[in-house]
Amino acid sequence: MSLEGKTAVITGSNSGIGLGIAHEMAKAGASVVINSFTDREEDHALAAQIAEAHGVDVRYIQADMSKGAECRGLIEKAGRCDILINNAGIQHVCPIDEFPVDKWDAIIAINMNSAFHTMAAALPKMRAAGWGRVVNIASAHGLTASPFKSAYIAAKHGVVGMTKSVALETAREPITANAICPGYVLTPLVEAQIPDTMKEYNMTREEVVENVMLTRQPSKEFATVEQMGGTAVFLCSDAAAQITGTTISVDGGWTAL
Ligand code: NAD
Repeated sequence: MSLEGKTAVITGSNSGIGLGIAHEMAKAGASVVINSFTDREEDHALAAQIAEAHGVDVRYIQADMSKGAECRGLIEKAGRCDILINNAGIQHVCPIDEFPVDKWDAIIAINMNSAFHTMAAALPKMRAAGWGRVVNIASAHGLTASPFKSAYIAAKHGVVGMTKSVALETAREPITANAICPGYVLTPLVEAQIPDTMKEYNMTREEVVENVMLTRQPSKEFATVEQMGGTAVFLCSDAAAQITGTTISVDGGWTAL
């Protein structure tokens, strides 16, 4: 499967799933733009490493996905945007009556509103190029719920709904919009939830992994960042040209339960 000649812009991609997707896109021959809110030497070095590993052009563009203007600015600075992967995301675990308002606002802004801004900026470029793919990284929590994650679940359900709406708006064009719904993938985002969840449920780390995280994942295995990247590449292939406005679960059977 070749994505040569295409440019993929991946939000929140200096770590975890976004970085995994960047590698798979580059492996498939796409030029890649990786992003986060930091502007460190290692961010640019990471772009150079991916470029060298796969022999494609990779740039790091700093932009804070909690700010609408910066989301739109990322797409403008990228120049081309044939493939848009909305992946930036954060989490906070807390009962709703104690949920800090600033955390709620940040989760809704980064996990949901950023996709509105990047899609609004990217669609005209896709139309001009005569081809486009939007892949939004939602979650099993875009289709189901768990306690103590109200902001995240609201945002991810919102992303799934927004994806369907954009798919209908572009249905007569050579553009598709879909959401990938991962189950648990062992990334820094998931690692960071373990201490809070241990406290919420009064459990050890092993108990949280076994009885909270993977209890909903019938495969009893974490999904991998490479699997997320492979699924995103598939959604950009010709085989997926009629797949639009839907979700693909990569969750070890979670949503089949
Ligand atoms: P991660 O923490 O490893 O990566 C998150 C990325 O988002 C990082 O690159 C971070 O720098 C970036 N980011 C955070 N705030 C940002 C901001 N304001 N502006 C720009 N970038 C920002 O987490 P991950 O697990 O790789 O998560 C990636 C996506 O996958 C998220 O949307 C998450 O909700 C989703 N997801 C993850 C899992 C999982 O189990 N890990 C499951 C389902 C969905």
